[in-house]
Amino acid sequence: MRTYEDSYRHKGLRKKLVDLLKEKGITDEKVLEAINNIPRHYFLDSAFDEIAYEDRAFPIAEGQTISQPYTVAFQTQLLQIKPFDKVLEIGTGSIYQASVLAELGATVYTIERQKKLFDKAKKFVLKSKYPSIKFFYGDGFEGLPTYGPFDKIIITAAAPIIPPKLIQQLKVGGKMVIPVNEGEQQRMLRLTKEENGQITEEAFEQFSFVPMLTGKNG
Ligand code: SAH
Repeated sequence: MRTYEDSYRHKGLRKKLVDLLKEKGITDEKVLEAINNIPRHYFLDSAFDEIAYEDRAFPIAEGQTISQPYTVAFQTQLLQIKPFDKVLEIGTGSIYQASVLAELGATVYTIERQKKLFDKAKKFVLKSKYPSIKFFYGDGFEGLPTYGPFDKIIITAAAPIIPPKLIQQLKVGGKMVIPVNEGEQQRMLRLTKEENGQITEEAFEQFSFVPMLTGKNG
C-alpha cells in the first residue's frame, strides 16, 4: 500500500516550479497559488516522486499523460476561473488539472473515455479534499447535456475540430479553452460565447497533447 507524504523537500521543489512558471510568463497569482498548494507527486506513480516537479508531462496508465505544469497553468489562466464556476473538463487523466480547477473554487464535471482511468478516479487520494470534482465515463465529444450549460469548458486532449455539442453546452458569456490540431501540434484557442450567440476566437501559442478520440474505450 502506497503512503502519501508531502515533505518539506516536495514543498521546496514545488515552490521552484512555481517560480519557473512565473519566468515562463504565467502571471495569474491565484493559478500559481493553486499549483503551489497541490502535491503533484500524488498524481504520479511513486517511481516519479523525485522528478514530479519538473516542468514536464509524464506517462500515466493506458498510454496517457499528465499534462506539463506550464500547460495546466496556461489553460487555467485562460479560463479566468471564479469561485463556483461550473466547469466541464474533457480528459480526466491523472485528475491533476481537475484538482487545480477545484482548488480555485470551481465545481468540475470531468469526463474520461478510458475505463481504467475512470475506475482509478474512485480511489483518488484527494477525493475528500475536492468533493467538488464529479467524475464521468464517456465521450467528451458529446459533453454532458443534462448537466450543462457550463461557465467554462476545458479540453485537455488534441481536438481535431471544435466539437459543436460542446459549443451548445457553453453559457452565454462562457469561455472554452481548446487545443486544436494544426499539423503535428495544436494551437491553443479561447472561444467566448457572446450575447448574440456568436463565438469570438482568440489564438495563443502551440502545444502538444495526446489525441482527443471518439467513443469510449473499455
Ligand atoms: N487533464 C489530464 C490530462 C490527461 S491527457 C491531467 O491533468 O492529467 C488527456 C486525456 O484525455 C487522456 O486521459 C485521454 O484518455 C482523454 N481523452 C481523449 N479523448 C477523449 C474524449 N473524447 N473524451 C474523454 N476523454 C478523452
